Amino acid sequence: MMPFVKRAMAATALAVALALLASCGGGASSPTASPTPVAVAPTPPPIPKVALISIDGLRADALAKAQAPEIRKLMARGVYTLRARTVLPAMTLPAHTSMLTGLEPSVHKVVWDDYVADKGTVSVPTVFAIAHAAGKRTVAVVGKEKFKTLASPGTIDSFLVVSGGDAEVVNQAIVETGVGFDLLFVHLPDVDLTGHAQAWMSPAYMAAIEAADAAVGRLVAALPPQTTVILTADHGGKDKTHGADIPEDRTIPSVAAVCVYPSHVATARARLAGTAVKVASVATAFPSGQAALAVKLADVAAAAVLKNTVVVGSVNANKRHWYRAGEVLARADHAWLARLITRREPPESFMRALQRQPDDIKVVVQFADV
Ligand SMILES: [Zn+2]
Repeated sequence: MMPFVKRAMAATALAVALALLASCGGGASSPTASPTPVAVAPTPPPIPKVALISIDGLRADALAKAQAPEIRKLMARGVYTLRARTVLPAMTLPAHTSMLTGLEPSVHKVVWDDYVADKGTVSVPTVFAIAHAAGKRTVAVVGKEKFKTLASPGTIDSFLVVSGGDAEVVNQAIVETGVGFDLLFVHLPDVDLTGHAQAWMSPAYMAAIEAADAAVGRLVAALPPQTTVILTADHGGKDKTHGADIPEDRTIPSVAAVCVYPSHVATARARLAGTAVKVASVATAFPSGQAALAVKLADVAAAAVLKNTVVVGSVNANKRHWYRAGEVLARADHAWLARLITRREPPESFMRALQRQPDDIKVVVQFADV
């Protein structure tokens, strides 16, 4: 596979989680089924659903301080970092365009931050366009008009600009979950608006985060089981503004609640100790011989390999083929094999593995010497 395309930082969690389609349910708790043998026969595809929630203007360190039990629940059952970094300019429309296209502003060209009808819609494909073209139902419920820039014709099945703030956005999103979705994007505007009015980190700003948290809780409870929930932000802020290249403006949280292999958590935690990535659950497409009941390996592998969207790594084979490949590789010319791996990165620098370099053939994130 060739997964190592250059992606904007803000979009990385999205790319990972979209690849890891087997997931834990919305309002449901983590899988608790005991490990069972992996079924290697093709299985009917599950209907993976993704809910992407963006809290406008949510600073990572503010989330760390806030009473946010609902978001903390997502963090506890998923993977998160409080040290993600958004693009420049750290503004709502450019950053959301990066989040929803996986591209830097220099590439997607949406560098303005107001709704300007004359400028039309974004010219590169969004995640909505890709999902829609794959026959998925796409829904976006947003709290600011400027998101019209991201609603290219024929890409979002239901696009709603909602006034009335976070609570009303979530009300409409809950209605949409009843209609049905494959990809649901929900934008909550109040935290940012409160920051502009009262200052980032002010008591009012912290209270807005807590209200947004409650709204997130209502939405997550309404999601169908097996929905992958991704929660992130477009930018932070300082005093009453944002947009600069300073940590206060650029550091955002990124949470992906994806539960597949609970038994691998301890290993992953140990390997990633001291890095920005906190691990509460692990999803992998390697045939480990165990899986939660909900996992459909064929689909995870298809998403990881055929769509080239995973950053962890995968093989496109069932367990028997995987072992057979191992036997063949063991007999192969090791010097030749070694030359194919042109770069090894330690887990704490995994982002570097995503940045293509001119002579890359195969880049690996190396967890251990083997
Ligand atoms: Zn703002």
